[in-house]
Amino acid sequence: MTSHYDLIAIGAGSGGLSVVERASEYGAKTAVIESGELGGTCVNVGCVPKKIMWYGAGLAHSLQDAEDYGYEVTRGKLDWKKLIEKRNNYIGNINDWYKDSFLSERNIDLIQGFARFVDEKTISVDGKTYTADKIVISTGGYPFIPSDIPGAEYGITSDEFFNDLDEKQPQKVVVVGGGYIALELAMLMSGLESEVHLLHQGRPMLRKFDGTLRRALRQQLEDDAININDNAIVASVERLNNGKLTIAYTDGTSLSNVDSLIWAIGRRPNTANLDLENTSIAVNDNGTIIVNDVEQTNVEHIYALGDIIGKAELTPVAIAAGRRLGDRLYGKKPNRKMSYDDIATVMFTHPPIATMGLSEEDAVKLHGGDHVKVYKTDFVPMYHSLTRHKVKTHMKLIVLGEEEKIVGCHMIGTGVDEMMQGFAVAIRMGATKQDFDDTIAIHPVSAEELVTMR
Ligand code: FAD
Ligand code: NDP
Repeated sequence: MTSHYDLIAIGAGSGGLSVVERASEYGAKTAVIESGELGGTCVNVGCVPKKIMWYGAGLAHSLQDAEDYGYEVTRGKLDWKKLIEKRNNYIGNINDWYKDSFLSERNIDLIQGFARFVDEKTISVDGKTYTADKIVISTGGYPFIPSDIPGAEYGITSDEFFNDLDEKQPQKVVVVGGGYIALELAMLMSGLESEVHLLHQGRPMLRKFDGTLRRALRQQLEDDAININDNAIVASVERLNNGKLTIAYTDGTSLSNVDSLIWAIGRRPNTANLDLENTSIAVNDNGTIIVNDVEQTNVEHIYALGDIIGKAELTPVAIAAGRRLGDRLYGKKPNRKMSYDDIATVMFTHPPIATMGLSEEDAVKLHGGDHVKVYKTDFVPMYHSLTRHKVKTHMKLIVLGEEEKIVGCHMIGTGVDEMMQGFAVAIRMGATKQDFDDTIAIHPVSAEELVTMR
């Protein structure tokens, strides 16, 4: 027998859970289909385990700073197994909460298994079929390993980094990539005192970020003794009997005794096995699903949101898109649309990066140099005045035209991760440099520099 719903979401990650949550709150009969763990990428192999480990690496930095503040610190070795076990327990509790509270309190049905389209109204999961008036595809993406490098398969992705490295901390790590995941993993492993090598296909890292952030992070990577090879890519990988890897680079050099090779070279959308060919849903060449400004595909009753549409691969984006779709479909709020512009993000490096809006380079390209003005500052925050490890903070505001409307805000430094959210509200509301100037500073905090820049 086929079960029928008002709305089915395929994928119980940030986006899928949010749309069924909101729709069910308005009284819709909903179900979510999930082939893995509830919570999706963010909870299981993304933001959450990453942030726990970022805190752990931060503590290692703080222990050194504590000595500089006069504490006698006896530093033991990190108990990796304990850290991973506690992290995994925490995630297990979130998975249980989703099942035991979140779904059941809202009468959302959980269908466990892998969903495939039978036709535009029907989905099959392990031989059973389900139909719905509205279907939301929120299947996210997956990290990939290159297929053209001999031995590349001996490396892992962020998924295995979080799922499989339970027992032993890899002491020597090679990270390939120059984006969010590569830099976060490289810096957290370096903070946890592994030897880290970073390789990014001969191009600048953080290509789309403001130049100030790129340069400052690069400096920090070098200060942290992370080995950067800018000139080469991996040519081949060999695994020895003892499980260690030897990695040959295209510049003729090689690295032996490597415990872990982590590919962090981007993610691909989970569309391939959905049997979309049984529908007329249109996809881009890279597999992401094409939607209009209300997350609707070219099939009227089928929507797609989150990473699968490839617009801004961030958890709060998937959540907001899901909730707003629920509001529009069942909450009589037709104008509650999602804007993909001016989204603030934080990269959890050490120190973190917070960024929003246009980079200086893009602002000049878009509006011309005469219309763009840049305010910037850099300083060693007071916290680091006593420490050996001097971590500089850089802040930059990009403003436009005579009224000096703020169109970009870029920061790297201790505490900027928590600083950005409030400023993001102001910038979204159209704040000008004068508004920042008119705001009385809080003293002594790093954030005061943002309202006192000249
Ligand atoms: P997902 O969360 O990926 O959920 C998709 C779900 O669909 C999965 O559970 C999958 O199992 C399921 N699925 C797929 N196909 C099927 C099928 N056919 N049938 C049934 N189920 C299916 N974002 C931030 O904002 N902040 C961060 O700090 C951050 N850190 C990250 C760190 C890492 C290492 C990674 C990889 C990502 C990080 N992200 C972060 C990005 C964030 O995790 C994603 O943007 C977010 O999870 C996307 O949500 P989603 O619902 O679109 O997809
Ligand atoms: P990113 O797009 O950030 O980075 C991918 C990196 O891989 C880039 O440096 C890219 O180089 C490089 N690359 C692409 N193709 C290849 C290739 N064939 N060989 C070698 N290198 C290659 O993707 P990530 O996978 O790091 O993260 C995915 C998304 O998840 C992010 O864009 C972000 O939206 C989200 N995320 C958010 C986080 C946060 O909010 N803190 C943390 C982690 C992920 P180039 O740029 O030069 O092309």
